[in-house]
Amino acid sequence: MEVQSESSMRRRVILFPLPLQGHITPMLQLASILHNKGLSITVIHTNFNSPNSVNYPHFDFHSIPDGLSEAVVSVADAVAVMTQVNDNCVEPFRDCLSKLLSNVEEEPIACLITDAMLHFTQSVADSLKLPRIVLRTSNISSFLVFAGTPLLHEKGYLPIKDPLSDAPVIEFPPLRVKDIPVVETHDPVKGQHLLLSMISQTKASSGLIWNSCEEIEQDAVTTLKQEFPIPIFAVGPFHKYFPAASSSLLSQDRSCISWLDKQAPKSVIYVSFGSIVAIKETEFLEIAWGLANSRVPFLWVVRPGSVHGAEWLEALPKGFLEMLDGRGHIVKWAPQQEILAHPATGGFWTHNGWNSTLESICEGVPMICHPSFGDQQVIARYVSDVWRVGLHLEKKLEKGEIERAVKRLILEDEGQEIRNRTMDLKEKVDISLRPGGSAYQALENLVNCIQSF
Ligand code: UDP
Repeated sequence: MEVQSESSMRRRVILFPLPLQGHITPMLQLASILHNKGLSITVIHTNFNSPNSVNYPHFDFHSIPDGLSEAVVSVADAVAVMTQVNDNCVEPFRDCLSKLLSNVEEEPIACLITDAMLHFTQSVADSLKLPRIVLRTSNISSFLVFAGTPLLHEKGYLPIKDPLSDAPVIEFPPLRVKDIPVVETHDPVKGQHLLLSMISQTKASSGLIWNSCEEIEQDAVTTLKQEFPIPIFAVGPFHKYFPAASSSLLSQDRSCISWLDKQAPKSVIYVSFGSIVAIKETEFLEIAWGLANSRVPFLWVVRPGSVHGAEWLEALPKGFLEMLDGRGHIVKWAPQQEILAHPATGGFWTHNGWNSTLESICEGVPMICHPSFGDQQVIARYVSDVWRVGLHLEKKLEKGEIERAVKRLILEDEGQEIRNRTMDLKEKVDISLRPGGSAYQALENLVNCIQSF
């Protein structure tokens, strides 16, 4: 049998991320993983939140107009961004993809990989006879709850009558009614359409990639395989395949690393609510006082614009920072993976975005969970009740509750037990990525699948 040379076997994959930080990062990580496996990479991206191509010299980048309105861009309303990109990008995306497919000088294009939320890309790919594989950047358990939306309506859980209800959701244990993902949007009809299209166009795709693995979500993988009879590749956690590469859209303040260097091992609570969540000024002050009163050293990311009505820290009382006497450090944006890997970091108070949750698990850092919306509510419940690697701040933000939760996690035996369980989960994930592990095998399967198109 004739053995093909490596260059003649080389194939190209086209990736199209959703232009939000929590979606761009895993897509570019996946691109790097596939590049390491010998595939050539082209990234199509919107003008809005375009990735920094300088950090990826081996990839080809193509920008398309997105027509996003100024109102949407200025507040980064996630649902509106998703809806408008799906509405506005059909023609620019089709044009760009057609041009790439007609370029005979490049390696043959094996397939398209797009974010699950970019549902319009399935019909474009179909019309160009190009297989589309989907990347879902959140976890599997929350996806199954989204996919169960019709069932939740049928059983009377939706629309939610009491958003604070502790009643169990029998169909999705251990969720409670208050954990059912709510998609906050000004236009609920469009929000619902977006969700249902995401599910149906994922079912119509040629495969589904996860930044998660069977060791973390065994039961969910089993259910998923029954409900979605397409190839499933649980390849994650992506960021463990190589040293941290920066896909950060904001510049990272590295002063936190030298501040952490001066702190005792496992003594610091790191606080960050990701790239989208915004809070009220009253909540911001409760957090500030809760952290200060705990007397536990804290590193807090306050994104400019993330406190309603404030540019940054103006709402803090005069003299607050001086009073801390170096016990607190506040930055606008941080090198999060490095912080979680730092020996001084003892816990992570998070909104439970999936990237943050996974990054925390991978460093064995226990969490305080305070979800805000959507998949975060499901992920937080899994962190506290299924994997038991975090404490759930169930009630509204109140300084006394915050102080108690921080002390429990960082200073008390209970926190150490949670840390031990987080370390156990981290070890399972590490094994999963090694030869013989499930994520390792899933990646082999994915590459074979791409090569077979
Ligand atoms: N992140 C960061 N610096 C920060 C805060 C967050 O680099 O100061 C990164 C974090 O490491 C993660 C991403 O931003 O990879 C946030 O994604 P996640 O899914 O947790 O939340 P989202 O921003 O989508 O709500």
